[in-house]
Amino acid sequence: MIRPFNFSAGPAAMPEEVLQIAAAEMLNWQGCGMGVMEMSHRGSEFISIYENAEKDFRELLSIPPNFKVLFLQGGGLGENAIVPLNLSRGGLVDFVLSGSWGQKSFVEAAKYANTHIAATSQEAGFTYLPEPTHWNLRETASYVHLCTNETIHGVECHELPDLKSLGSSASLVIDFSSHVLSRTVDWSRVGCAFAGAQKNIGPAGLTLVVIRDDLLEQAMDICPSAFNYKLIAQAHSMYNTPPTYAIYIAGLTFQWLKKQEEQGYMGTLAIEQRNKRKAELLYTYLDNSQFYFNKVLHSSRSRMNVPFFLRDESLNEAFLKGAKNNGLLQLKGHKSVGGMRASIYNAMPLEGVQTLIEYLQDFEKTRA
Ligand SMILES: *Cc1c(COP(=O)(O)O)cnc(C)c1O
Repeated sequence: MIRPFNFSAGPAAMPEEVLQIAAAEMLNWQGCGMGVMEMSHRGSEFISIYENAEKDFRELLSIPPNFKVLFLQGGGLGENAIVPLNLSRGGLVDFVLSGSWGQKSFVEAAKYANTHIAATSQEAGFTYLPEPTHWNLRETASYVHLCTNETIHGVECHELPDLKSLGSSASLVIDFSSHVLSRTVDWSRVGCAFAGAQKNIGPAGLTLVVIRDDLLEQAMDICPSAFNYKLIAQAHSMYNTPPTYAIYIAGLTFQWLKKQEEQGYMGTLAIEQRNKRKAELLYTYLDNSQFYFNKVLHSSRSRMNVPFFLRDESLNEAFLKGAKNNGLLQLKGHKSVGGMRASIYNAMPLEGVQTLIEYLQDFEKTRA
């Protein structure tokens, strides 16, 4: 069966190979007579699935040994509370806002910590990431929160800020939900990173947290035990039953990513080169068109989420209908932004972007 290209922002398209392996192993995982969903999380079969998933994730992102990787539940929004409960000590937390995910995190953290907006691009409709040198950081903040890829507004941070050089001793906390594993991460600049799985990794519900060892000691007393990073780390993510099937699928995605690694790209993710190419093709087309446009400042544009508009918005419905008929699904923009959005995560092949551009051209020709 030839499947359509799916541009959903999340839960998003998975690599087809991953779905096929999962389907083939559904009833009987590697000859053990059980499906993965039916296994004890403490049995040797699942432990091997878990250990391989963690090892591959660490390897793909070159995560240093002084960081723990936690697999938990609760999603990105869960982390909006879990992070301040673990890291704020009830003190000061600074936020940099370049879209609605950062804003949501800011509102939630205010329940637990003394929050402050160090910089925002809200006045410009979240069309850029404020320059780090202009951030108004507080000296005694325990951490600075930054969503490094704003999924709805299509704004991405392409170079992580070095907080020390900005005169801050705070740790950087990043929400990298919608571009995790799409590019390398400079861990020397990060204290904690979290990601919901449903964009680039696997089933919704699974959340990955990467946290530096020295930050594990600071949880507030009111922090729920099942969300206490230290307890979870000590139990190797088995403090309570982890989302076992989601971890298995994540592990298959990591194996798929490792297969994409090619000679010559040592030390970086091969997929990053492909992602750059896909985004460049699409933005170049949009920029050269009189019919479509994207509003985001060039240096802040996301490689993963490309919001765009038709100059004549009365054609939106016809555009979406035609797209669907051409095997291009879920291109409608988020309701808060309007227009269209093409999410082109790791699993979107280059041909998907090329096919989208062909459709954009055809639609323009018949309507302009
Ligand atoms: C999708 C997304 C989330 C999602 O959180 P859920 O709780 O899993 O719905 C959080 N942050 C960002 C940047 C996202 O793109």
